[in-house]
Amino acid sequence: MPIPDQILDEIQNKVNIVEVISAYVPLKKAGRNYKGLCPFHHEKTPSFMVSQDKQIYHCFGCGAGGNAFSFLMRQERLEFPEAVRLLAEKAGIRLPSSSYGDKASSSLANKIYEVNELACSFYQANLAGDKDASGYLNSRGIGQEAVKSFRLGIAPKAWDGLLNFLKAKGVSLEIIEKAGLIIPSDRGGHYDRFRERVTFPIFDLRSRILGFGARVMDSSLPKYVNSPETVVYSKGQNLYGFNFSKEDIKKANYAIVVEGYMDFILPFQAGVRNIVATLGTALTGDQARLLKRFAKTCVIVYDPDEAGESASLRNLDIFIKEGLGVYIAALKKGYDPDSFVRNFGVEGFREVIKEAKNLFDYKLELLSQRFNPNDIHGKVEIAQEMLPTIAKIDNAILQSSLIKRLGQALSIDEDSLRVELKKVKTDYSHRPSKAQTPRNEKGKETGKAEKMLLGMMLEDRDFIKRSIDIIKPEEFRDDAMREIIKVLFSYDPEAKMASVASSLLSHFKDNEDVCQIVLEAASLNEAISDSNKVFVDCVETIKKGNIRLQLAALQDAIRKAHASKDDKALKELLSKYNSLVKA
Ligand SMILES: [Zn+2]
Repeated sequence: MPIPDQILDEIQNKVNIVEVISAYVPLKKAGRNYKGLCPFHHEKTPSFMVSQDKQIYHCFGCGAGGNAFSFLMRQERLEFPEAVRLLAEKAGIRLPSSSYGDKASSSLANKIYEVNELACSFYQANLAGDKDASGYLNSRGIGQEAVKSFRLGIAPKAWDGLLNFLKAKGVSLEIIEKAGLIIPSDRGGHYDRFRERVTFPIFDLRSRILGFGARVMDSSLPKYVNSPETVVYSKGQNLYGFNFSKEDIKKANYAIVVEGYMDFILPFQAGVRNIVATLGTALTGDQARLLKRFAKTCVIVYDPDEAGESASLRNLDIFIKEGLGVYIAALKKGYDPDSFVRNFGVEGFREVIKEAKNLFDYKLELLSQRFNPNDIHGKVEIAQEMLPTIAKIDNAILQSSLIKRLGQALSIDEDSLRVELKKVKTDYSHRPSKAQTPRNEKGKETGKAEKMLLGMMLEDRDFIKRSIDIIKPEEFRDDAMREIIKVLFSYDPEAKMASVASSLLSHFKDNEDVCQIVLEAASLNEAISDSNKVFVDCVETIKKGNIRLQLAALQDAIRKAHASKDDKALKELLSKYNSLVKA
């Protein structure tokens, strides 16, 4: 059963799209609209626009757009009824029938979230009754409050502890396996993936549990076991702890990036709140983009013992490529953030962060220790490591000044460095193309006047009333446009609506072509000075275009009537033609 438009509208009357999107994308006021970096494509300058008046968003870079419902669908990978339910909850509106969204909530992703939630509470309850495990966490410096907030738990020693618990709760084996919580045994049956380990649930931005990491409590190996990739969890797409720290990261405008669960928890509980963990050695572009939405700079807490130091430094170029400022904070040898905070306190940790060096300086210093910058071979080695990093900087001024500094540091002629830089740049192939044109051809063909008129009606409902009196839906040439106009003209002019554009998007949510036209039209009218004149011009242009088409058709019919000597028809057609010409 579809959800009535009226209820969708009621929800949108109460929920502000700017607030909804702000939870994911920091937005800045820009004129009447809000702007931010598009979460759906790679970009360095914001082309993602959110209109509070129209309750819609639109990206001029990749063409993504829609209302609050479609944003959540895309961002959270929800089905339409799920998105509606989520916003209805936010708005405090009860959906009339409990059946809305029930089908969606049985989607595999949701089932996995549910079973993860159950598993998490199982592990938590286990920890509460396990003195040894509590003692262990305590000895590692993790306080009660952190245990509670990060929902740490213990996986029992048994092979089927969780399995039996979940079975008793009525969860199917299939779902438990798809959640990655159990592993099929060679001898048939299944066994628990996590046993005798501290469990760390991995959350998404909405604090749903995507999977788990689990750490041994002694020195046995492997130290960590993690959830496998599932429908909801893929490595390298999330940042651990981001749901707890994103607001603080936004406030500080920089993020401290560490590697593991403990590296995150220890500083966080001590008050360093703008921190996230990557949960893996190799940083990904997804993680960099996620961070960039909340901060301009990141401070990587770097383990100088790390094997293949320059290789892992090279990996940081991903941040630079995304336009993030990168600083390196190096801990004393032999320490990670976890042990560092335990030994030197949070003040010591803050001190290290304060002394972070930018990636360029850090790398240059490091390379100068390894290779002799006074020797020609050393110079080549150092330049070869430095240039790819510099090549990824998008800002020409910054790039130029770094080349200058590198030249000075190595006593090399700047021009030859620039020649080498160009070679690196041509290797660097993947650059996202600018402004993809919207896919649908129809949208392009739609007469400018039709789109402009629609835009005006979306801007001001008064224009809908005025249009109804002077133009019929049939007079619009574009098929999709005609459908839109029909729906627009059927709206009760007195009804309280959050936004006409957004209502249309809900109404036509399954018709991408139509939605694209609505979005384009809604983004047109930012700078119309004399809207009354433009309105009249648009209507006239549409009508003239129509008449031209009709005249052409009549001419054709007249020719045929003439050829077949049908005088009666000819007379009729001619009089029609004449009256049209006069019109
Ligand atoms: Zn975009």
